Amino acid sequence: MALIDPSLLKSLLGTLAGRFDVDALDTCDSSSSELLRRAERGAPAGSVIVADQQIAGRGRRGRQWLSSPENSLTFSLLWRFSGSASQLSGLSLAVGVGLVRALESLGASDIRLKWPNDVLLRRDGGYAKIAGVLIELASDRRGTQVIIGIGLNLQRPAGELPQPAAGLSEAMEHLPDRHDLLASILVALAGVLETVAVDGFFGLKNEWQSCHAWQNQPVQLLADESEPLTGICRGVDHDGALLLETASGIQRILSGDVSLRPA
Ligand code: ATP
Repeated sequence: MALIDPSLLKSLLGTLAGRFDVDALDTCDSSSSELLRRAERGAPAGSVIVADQQIAGRGRRGRQWLSSPENSLTFSLLWRFSGSASQLSGLSLAVGVGLVRALESLGASDIRLKWPNDVLLRRDGGYAKIAGVLIELASDRRGTQVIIGIGLNLQRPAGELPQPAAGLSEAMEHLPDRHDLLASILVALAGVLETVAVDGFFGLKNEWQSCHAWQNQPVQLLADESEPLTGICRGVDHDGALLLETASGIQRILSGDVSLRPA
């Protein structure tokens, strides 16, 4: 049986229970791929797939996301917005704010955000990735459909990773029950997604910056086909663009196809 019981989860969602439709799977390729297929068949906004085991968990640009049933919480949420995708440029940052709100409300500390889509734990003078967010958008004349994939490590993942990784267990004394954890995250996500629907990322910018791992710190931006760009990270703009102060002035970086590293 899957590790999440949808009826128990529903009872924890309080007044938002009617906004979510949760299905828990023992295994699938990736919760986002499965939800995308269901969305194409007309699944409603608020559909959630929690997958204990992902055979092909995905990060950005086809990268792999590692997870294991007992040590991870991996799920995807379907949402719909009335506007175009261009109004949703800060969405992965908004989701990061929702994750920080939820984790802090459960007692986690030292949780920070990395542009554009990672949640980090500050430890030993450095940072380790605790969760990743993958946003997939599709627009048509009715609006924009969004699939929000979240992989959260409950324990530090086993296996070799190029960057340090951590588990939520390192951020709090006692891990919450995974139902309480998922319910808190869904409630927090509903909050930030409503804000985005009204104001875009604008209303969440200050909160994002207050959790930003490298605010006013020297960083490097790595891209596949160009030289690294070095500068001071000045946070983000109202649309979620990264603000990098370089020798030639402030540059706005909108594309997520780059990797940020401390310099
Ligand atoms: P970058 O750091 O270059 O910006 P990213 O961290 O945004 O990339 P994502 O696509 O979000 O990359 O996540 C995939 C990457 O995360 C993988 O390439 C791997 O390095 C790392 N990773 C995979 N699984 C985990 C995990 N469970 N915990 C932490 N990091 C992971």
